[in-house]
Amino acid sequence: MVKKKVVLIFPPELTDKAITYRLVKDFDLAINILRAKVTPQEEGRLLVELSNGDETLLVQGLEYLREQGVGVQLLSQDIQWNENLCVHCGACTAVCFAKAFVLDPKSLKVSFDCDKCIACELCINTCPVQAIQGEF
Ligand code: SF4
Ligand code: SF4
Repeated sequence: MVKKKVVLIFPPELTDKAITYRLVKDFDLAINILRAKVTPQEEGRLLVELSNGDETLLVQGLEYLREQGVGVQLLSQDIQWNENLCVHCGACTAVCFAKAFVLDPKSLKVSFDCDKCIACELCINTCPVQAIQGEF
């Protein structure tokens, strides 16, 4: 099973179109909606996990979205960790239930795995040195 977490950005003219329905019907994609910000007449944003056994269909589905005018951002572009600013205090690991931020007990260094991140953004305000940025 191939999975990708992406942020889909719908311009106002597309927010009432059945585009995600076409992803299921035409590309056989399973869609897990992790977060949503949709306001009528304004830009809508969905954080979704798309999955399918066939990576080609997944890529074609993303291409279809782009052709329709939907912005597609891979999740790694959403949460950004500036390791150079990080002082490894571990505060972010206490709020990250997805375990994307973890503290190595031996080295006492924090690491970030963007594949585990679900962009809840709970970590952003916990960081005392603004080493974490999010754009969802
Ligand atoms: S955004 Fe949420 S899941 Fe991602 S690293 Fe921060 S706390 Fe963890
Ligand atoms: S809260 Fe900020 S400074 Fe502390 S470990 Fe996390 S990213 Fe680094």
